[in-house]
Amino acid sequence: MTTMKPDFFVNSLLEIPLDVLKDKGIQGLIIDLDNTLTNWNCSVIDKEICKWLADLEKQGFKIIIVSNNSSERIEASLSKLNLPYVPYALKPGKRAFLKAMKILGTTVNTTAVIGDQLFTDILGGKRLGLTTILVPPLNKKEFIGTRIMRKLEKIILSRYL
Ligand SMILES: [Mg+2]
Repeated sequence: MTTMKPDFFVNSLLEIPLDVLKDKGIQGLIIDLDNTLTNWNCSVIDKEICKWLADLEKQGFKIIIVSNNSSERIEASLSKLNLPYVPYALKPGKRAFLKAMKILGTTVNTTAVIGDQLFTDILGGKRLGLTTILVPPLNKKEFIGTRIMRKLEKIILSRYL
């Protein structure tokens, strides 16, 4: 069985150890949208996070948004940011991640996934052997299905931490 243990578990996007990722050879970052970059059901990306995204690009990382959400929702969030994205990703399916790496021109060894959910972002990344980074969800208020998943996540995470 694929383990779901994230390679990195940080308290905020801003705490992701970029130097460590660079040393590992990571060039591309696949980033989740809902509850990773934006609050659930709100399309606005915080100024601080916009600055962090711009800084990533300055540091030479290639970024792509991979989301289970619709193109409309993703475009509403990314309006001012000129980032590529893959919508309707059906994570943890592998296809969207493979497509994202093709767009970035990176490989499983040079790509990391950043997201707030074990069962979609982390599991999807793990299935392909990508580096995985779990961040806490930005907002606690979530879709009911996600809330149930959170309880299961807690049980699994408690074994890792
Ligand atoms: Mg999410």
